[in-house]
Order: sequence, then structure tokens, then C-alpha cells
Amino acid sequence: MSGKQRVVVVGNGMVGHHFVEQLTQLKQHGDELEITVLSGEDRLAYDRVHLSEFFSGKTASDLALTTADIYGDWHVNFFTNAKVENIDRQQQFVTTQQGNRFYYDKLILATGSFPFVPPIPGKDRDHCLVYRTINDLEAIKRSASQSKVGVVIGGGLLGLEAANALKKLGLQTHVVEFAPQLMGVQVDQAGGRLLKKKIEQLGVNVHTSMATEQIVEGHQCRYKMCFKGGHELETDMILFSAGIRPYDNLGREFGLDIGERGGIVINNHCQTSDRNIYAIGECALWSNFIFGLVAPGYTMAKVAAKHIIFNNEVDAFTGADMSTKLKLMGVEVGSIGDAHARATGAKSYIFDDQINGIYKKIVVNQSGDRLLGAVLVGDTSDYDSLLQRYLNNLALVEPAESLIMPLAGSLAEIDPVDLPDDAIICVCNKVTKLTIQNSILSGCTDLAKVKSSTKACTGCGSCEQMVKSIIDSNNMLVTITEPEQLSAPAV
Ligand SMILES: Cc1cc2nc3c(=O)[nH]c(=O)nc-3n(C[C@H](O)[C@H](O)[C@H](O)COP(=O)(O)OP(=O)(O)OC[C@H]3O[C@@H](n4cnc5c(N)ncnc54)[C@H](O)[C@@H]3O)c2cc1C
Repeated sequence: MSGKQRVVVVGNGMVGHHFVEQLTQLKQHGDELEITVLSGEDRLAYDRVHLSEFFSGKTASDLALTTADIYGDWHVNFFTNAKVENIDRQQQFVTTQQGNRFYYDKLILATGSFPFVPPIPGKDRDHCLVYRTINDLEAIKRSASQSKVGVVIGGGLLGLEAANALKKLGLQTHVVEFAPQLMGVQVDQAGGRLLKKKIEQLGVNVHTSMATEQIVEGHQCRYKMCFKGGHELETDMILFSAGIRPYDNLGREFGLDIGERGGIVINNHCQTSDRNIYAIGECALWSNFIFGLVAPGYTMAKVAAKHIIFNNEVDAFTGADMSTKLKLMGVEVGSIGDAHARATGAKSYIFDDQINGIYKKIVVNQSGDRLLGAVLVGDTSDYDSLLQRYLNNLALVEPAESLIMPLAGSLAEIDPVDLPDDAIICVCNKVTKLTIQNSILSGCTDLAKVKSSTKACTGCGSCEQMVKSIIDSNNMLVTITEPEQLSAPAV
């Protein structure tokens, strides 16, 4: 034993890697740590959020978030194909599938989640796949090359991404959703209806309110899906995207507190019921909630790293915003805060342009002066401004409906100048307006430089437009003041 504090990280997904990054940065303050990463996959961390870009030509190394050399430089020990199967909490070591032991002072469970496959008879046949890892995508590519028709079970955010992938691979594509609408978590009924229409216009067949009962041999295709009520659909391959479940098996088997519906229970410092074991990312259950987005996982990683290094009790994980913006098959969708107007007294303004296929809804509080949420389908150009108003609890402009009405233009758009310095612009990496401005002042005057110096836009990427606006408004200020500065030496 080396005498250093031994930190063992189980799982090297996006959050596990972010934790290692944080710990490495913080330990430069003189702390002595020995960090060991045990990755259950056959590779180190990669960008799962942008996984679908694998089908537009990106390679596994383009998606990589780290390399053996980087971990080497950081003095991080790492092992791939090192699935942990056992935790000995008394003697404080974990054992991998290969029987290797790793002793820890602090153990981090960053095991993420796995796709839920409903218990449908026939689900384990060949060409019945999931969409989570690079290896899954390679299997999908192989299967698609021997298929003509593909079905995605699940019409949520990831299901539509998977459908997009099948379409790009040249398959006749269907989405089968159990609920009466697509993306029911993020989008309201009217938005869901428009989304369905738009996706169908792109040539994807959408079947809502369909419960699959079994998968049997097909006649024209490899398989036949049989639905409740007697409907049938033939397909050559099936992708399950019916939600995710936390990989909480290690916590469950080795006595950590687990939520009623799964997830390793954590406190505000991301500690589990064993104070030497932390859980972060999609395997962690905070306040009875699992966060299926990367930004909350990054915050957990930061909080846990600080807690381990500084015993920092001040920084805490206190929940996270679940707003999302995405572009699926060219269809823009945005969802902010209380999209379903569930808060007491919440009221909505709706703009429904059935000619151009644009649906926008904003949800405001009872007194109508604060934004609680929004749904945008077909046009998300207002997303960044609405998100900043929502996150910073800014007073609404009068009249509030101008925020989503067409031609309101400058009224709806938020001027970065109106945002407070501590406004969080990049939610994933918690980058504030002030940090971006300081980066610009230090010479990072374009997006690429600001991204690399602040890490803004490097998570889900949806803040890019707002970061550009801040750069533009700062560059304008610099341009206006430049002539004076230039003329100064001549005087
Ligand atoms: C296609 C797709 C698109 C997405 N798009 C978005 C998006 O636009 N915005 C957004 O915010 N989020 C998005 N997400 C979700 C985001 O990717 C996750 O929130 C994030 O990756 C969670 O990170 P994690 O480290 O907790 O889990 P994971 O990334 O799942 O990593 C966990 C790792 O732990 C490993 N592991 C599990 N058990 C063990 C064990 N016993 N021993 C060793 N290793 C183990 C797993 O193999 C895995 O490598 C998307 C996800 C997918 C699949």
C-alpha cells in the first residue's frame, strides 16, 4: 500500500470520466491520490451524447473523451474490460470479473444505466438490439446491412434518435410507442401530435398506443411483431429504446440503500449509505430522482470530487434542470422546465401555426411575471432566450406572449447584456456569463477558443448560440473601443 488516498472509480462513462478529470485538476493543490479507473467496456470514456454521429461518419476515436496517453499523463491507473463484480465493504476492496482486487479508501460507483428491454416473448432473438454503446452501434450497422425494415420500440428522445439512425442506414423505419404520444416526458399533447406528423412526413412510420405482445417468425420479413388488439407489423430488426434503468446491481448486492424503483440512494455530497462509497451519474438516486442527462451527472462528479479532496461540505448537489433542446431528423424540439404546466396556478400561452408546422407554448406563474416552462416544436430559435429567462428567474417582458409570437423578434430575444454575471450559460459544465466574458477578454475571441478555454458547449452543446451571442456582443464592445486605444500611442 502506497500511503496515498486510494480512489477507485467503477465505470468510465461520461460522468465517471468527468469525475476523474475534476479530481485530477483539484489534486494539483497538493493532495496525494492514487486514482484507479475500472471500465466495464472494452474502451475508455467516449461522448455518449453524440453517439449517433457514429452513423454520420464519426469514428470511435472521434468520440473518445480521453486516451491511454492522457490518463498516463494524469497518473491515472486504468483497466478496460474490468467489470466489477464484488465489493468487500469491510476490507474495502472491489473484485473484477477476472478476479483482480483493487483496494480503496473512497469508492466511486459511476456505473450509469442500461436500456430497459420489456419482457416481450421473442425479445432475445438475433437482430433484437439496444442503443447505448459504441459496440451496440456496430451491431446495429451489421444487422442493418442484412435488413430492409427496422422497428424502434419506444418513442422517447432516445427512441427517435435510434429511428433517425435506422433511416440513415437506409431502412424502412417504424417507431412503436406504447403511450398515445411521442416524447411524452418533454412535450405536451399538442406538441407531441405535431412532432408525430413531422416525423411521419420524413418517411418514418409512427404507431402510438401500441403494446407489443410477442415477436415471432415473419413471412415477408425476418420477424413479425404482434400487438395487443390483433395488429401486426413485420420487420427484419428491432431496436429497444423503452427507457433506461440504473446499473445499481453493485449497490443492491452489497448492501447499499436502493430506491424503491431502483437507483443507489445518495445524499447531497453524493455519498451512499456507506460514507466511503459515492454514486454519481445515472446510477445515483437523489431525492428519489434519477437524472437521465449528462449535466446533472457532471455536477455530481464535481461535488463528489470536492468532497473527497477538501472534505467540502459547502458545495452540494441540489437537483438539476432537465431542459433539453434537440434536432431529430431535422425536426427541432425544445422542452424547458414545467413543460406540462403542472405547477399550481400555472397558465399557458400557445402559438400553434398549423400551416408552417410550428408549435410553441410558454408556461408562466400565477401572476404572469415569471417563466415556468416551455415547449417548442418545429422552431427552437427562442430556446436559448427562454432558457435564460427561466434559469435566471428574469421578469417577463410585456406582453409575455411576445416571447413566442412571430415577428416579435428583438422583443423575444434576450440581450446577453441583460443577463446577470453569474447566469449559467453552459448548464452541463456550469460555465457562467462572467467566465465566458473573462475568456474573451483574455484573447479567446471566437467560439472554438472560448469552448476550449471554458469548456462551454462541450457537453450537450445546446448553449452554443447563446455563447456566440456573448462573444458577438463582447467583440462589438471591443471594436467600438478599439480606435481610441489604437490612437493612444500616437498622442
Ligand atoms: C444515444 C444517446 C443520446 C443521448 N443524448 C443526450 C443528450 O442529448 N443530452 C444529455 O444530457 N444526455 C444524453 N444522453 C444521456 C447521457 O449520455 C447520459 O446521461 C450519460 O452518458 C450518463 O453518464 P454515466 O457515466 O452516468 O453513465 P454511462 O455513460 O452509461 O457510463 C457508465 C459506464 O459504467 C460501466 N459499468 C457499468 N457497470 C459496471 C461495472 N460493474 N464495472 C465496471 N464498469 C461498469 C458501463 O459499461 C459504462 O461504460 C444520451 C444517451 C444516449 C445513449
